[in-house]
Amino acid sequence: MHVVWQDGHTSQFELIWLRAHCPCATCREERRERASTRDPLRLVATPPPSAEIVAAELVGHYAIRFTWQDGHTAGIFPFEALRSSCPCQQCNPGGPTQLVVD
Ligand SMILES: [Zn+2]
Ligand SMILES: [Zn+2]
Repeated sequence: MHVVWQDGHTSQFELIWLRAHCPCATCREERRERASTRDPLRLVATPPPSAEIVAAELVGHYAIRFTWQDGHTAGIFPFEALRSSCPCQQCNPGGPTQLVVD
C-alpha cells in the first residue's frame, strides 16, 4: 500500500505487514496467544490470514479501515500510527516498528 502524506513524504507498506499488525481486538488477542504458546505445531496449524485488500474506507479524518479478502474488517489503522511505523530508512532506520495504536 502506497501512502503519500500531506508533507509530501511517501510510505510503502507491505500488505502482509499491515495484516500482521491488524489492531483489532481479535487479532491482538491472537498475537498474544501465539506469542505465549511454546507449541510450534500450533503455529503450523493456523492458516495464514489473507494479505489481500479488497476495499479500503476512511474512518473520519484520522484512520483507514481495510476489508481483507477473507472478510476481516475489524481493524482500524490510525494514520498517526501508520506514519510513525513508516518502513522507510528515513523514519525507521531499523525497519518498520510495531504498530502502536493504544
Ligand atoms: Zn484484525
Ligand atoms: Zn518514512
